Amino acid sequence: MLSPNQLLKKYFGYENFRPQQEEIIEQTLSGADSLVLMPTGGGKSLCFQIPALLLPGTAIVVSPLISLMKDQVDALRSNGISAAFYNSSQSFEEQQAILNGCHNGEIKLLYISPEKLLSDTEIITKACKISLFAIDEAHCVSSWGHDFRPEYTQMGFLRERYPSIPFIALTATADKLTRRDIIKQLKLKKPQIFITSFDRKNLSLEVKIGVKPKEKINEIIDFIQERKNQSGIIYCLSRKKCEEAYEALQNQGINAMFYHAGMDAAVRSSVQERFINDDLQVVCATVAFGMGIDKSNVRWVIHYNLPKNIEGYYQEIGRAGRDGLPSETILYYNYADLQLLNKFAGEGAMAEVNLEKLKRMQNYAEADSCRRKILLNYFSESPDQNCGNCDVCANPRQHFDGTVTVQKALSAVMRMGEKEGLNMLVDVLRGSKRQEIIAAGYDKIKTHGAGAEIPLFDWQRYIMQMLNLGILEMAYDENFALKITPAGNDILFGKKKIELTVLNSIKAVEKTVKTR
Ligand code: ADP
Ligand code: ZN
Repeated sequence: MLSPNQLLKKYFGYENFRPQQEEIIEQTLSGADSLVLMPTGGGKSLCFQIPALLLPGTAIVVSPLISLMKDQVDALRSNGISAAFYNSSQSFEEQQAILNGCHNGEIKLLYISPEKLLSDTEIITKACKISLFAIDEAHCVSSWGHDFRPEYTQMGFLRERYPSIPFIALTATADKLTRRDIIKQLKLKKPQIFITSFDRKNLSLEVKIGVKPKEKINEIIDFIQERKNQSGIIYCLSRKKCEEAYEALQNQGINAMFYHAGMDAAVRSSVQERFINDDLQVVCATVAFGMGIDKSNVRWVIHYNLPKNIEGYYQEIGRAGRDGLPSETILYYNYADLQLLNKFAGEGAMAEVNLEKLKRMQNYAEADSCRRKILLNYFSESPDQNCGNCDVCANPRQHFDGTVTVQKALSAVMRMGEKEGLNMLVDVLRGSKRQEIIAAGYDKIKTHGAGAEIPLFDWQRYIMQMLNLGILEMAYDENFALKITPAGNDILFGKKKIELTVLNSIKAVEKTVKTR
């Protein structure tokens, strides 16, 4: 029997595993569960494909992206791996043939949507000896994630029904809370969590604040014209914006197209195809574009509007520079977008979470410290160094020794038992005597009023800085309570100093609002 390494060479033509791939494969081969967090393009697929080749039977690969299954299966087949997909577009005979292939142990990987797996569980489990379950895009299982698919939540029962088959859940985007929720919903058994670095050093990060619409499109046109033959994606909030941006580019002779869910499926896939084949330079698209597109030479990604949350944003900019070469990303941020997104986020059952995620996105856009650090902190990595490849690093803000300010805030957080949110914290620091504060006894704690000299609005922004710096964390699932991180403890207990940003050195969006 071949080793994972030999299979890597034989079927995929690669010499070495990327960090963690081998460990993940071993984990699955040993029959244990895993949760894999790897950025887009990181190489998640191999982590279940190689175990699927080594274990007897058929691996069931659950993916929400029916449109991509065929591509994935074709790619495997062209590498000499026997794989198939199973969905309702197939005739009864086709489905039967596939199930037969699984039954004889010929088909090593079977791709299926969660709906189909749930509706045909009996048929499939009767036909297949299941070697493992791979749950791709596993963040879809969590309503805390940014792409919730209710069908996913029902898969937990499979884990109970097949206690000895290993599960491997994979995603490119999951903050801590979503991670916990994935484990809970899928009922993973003591999974090992593998997190590879999300750092994409080759992507430059830039945010442009308060640029007016007309200037914006002209700037973008100049940007593209300075980058002949470099392909890129412009993400817009609405279908209408996509078409408008496209028209403006088209008028300047730029080879562009638009892409959104309101278009015919055939047209959409032709746009996608042409973009992949370098037959289109620019696509103006909604977030519907790009899921699973494997195009390595996207040189830039522009966000025409503010994204809804950091997960989505990071995934979208992550479509640039998959070949590892320097690539540019620009985010345009203005108050009107923020207002609109706030309105959207405030609707529906997930309003609170969505609003909070939007706030973190806003916060990133208004950042006054290294943007990459903020992004990586969001995904629970804590890099020591500023990146030197973002606009804040290029134009540093002024800083001051904020240790005492931070200690005041952290001490109040601690004394309130880490169960209060931002507004309560600010009120306590400012010495408010409102009824809730008296009732909770917070007027008695030592730090009550310890920050009265700092205006309320400034406190909010300092606390946002602390969130961005990874000193504080916000627990969405506990009423947005603020918690002190290990890095925060070091500051609270005087082991480390910390710098905060002088607030008036930040070009704030509020200024844009006032001039309206
Ligand atoms: P993901 O699903 O994480 O977005 P993929 O599994 O599609 O990423 O892998 C992205 C690309 O990286 C693919 O072209 C894949 O063949 C390649 N790749 C994966 N593992 C390796 C490796 N060990 N060495 C070289 N290339 C790899
Ligand atoms: Zn930076």
